[in-house]
Amino acid sequence: MSIALNLTNIKSQLPEHVTLVAVSKTKPVTDLMEAYNAGQRIFGENYVQELVDKHDQMPKDIEWHFIGHLQSRKAKLIVPFVSLIHGVDSLKLLEEINKQAQKNNRVVDCLLQVHIAEEDTKFGLDEQELDEILKQVQNDSENYKNIRIVGLMGMATFTENEKQLEKEFNLLKSIFDNNSKFNAANWQLNTLSMGMSGDYKLAISCGSTMVRIGSSIFGNRSPLTPKGGN
Ligand SMILES: *Cc1c(COP(=O)(O)O)cnc(C)c1O
Repeated sequence: MSIALNLTNIKSQLPEHVTLVAVSKTKPVTDLMEAYNAGQRIFGENYVQELVDKHDQMPKDIEWHFIGHLQSRKAKLIVPFVSLIHGVDSLKLLEEINKQAQKNNRVVDCLLQVHIAEEDTKFGLDEQELDEILKQVQNDSENYKNIRIVGLMGMATFTENEKQLEKEFNLLKSIFDNNSKFNAANWQLNTLSMGMSGDYKLAISCGSTMVRIGSSIFGNRSPLTPKGGN
């Protein structure tokens, strides 16, 4: 099927309150343009240099999301234009994003990544670390004026076991609910980014408000492509 048809198909299944991030990592700009011409404006990328290159080459009304693991020293390359950074998992990274955003006179939206998978290869905070970051940002909000924490992100275990996936999505949703009751000057959780090609329907039924879908739109990536990112 064509990219445009895949997009139409998926979008017709998404409830109105769920945002679709088209994950285009490793795919050529021609493929992204096909999605763009079909109306898609939100794209997610995992690799810093690839995101920078695609941002340069593509129309300027696109919202770029960084969904990979961001190294602090590379934040400066994407902060000038990125719309949302999904995988923030340390205070150090948050501080660096804030510093770079200040230089660019921007406020950058961030999601904190929570570790929900069984595998320990996936990045993310545990509940206590999440709590510490939210408290720090709240208590010292003067020093985090150029970031806004708008929600949480999580990646489930790579499995087809629906029970396992459901357990992990429900866990993230309950952490989200516990924290979205509160807010501070620069955090207010309203976005819950969970769900990919294989599990987005389940994620939505568990409360996701943002799904990150790649292969179901653009086709399979080369099996040699690493999953993570930098
Ligand atoms: C690659 C990736 C996706 C998309 O995965 P698909 O299975 O191709 O939909 C979503 N989220 C993250 C963090 C990814 O790295």
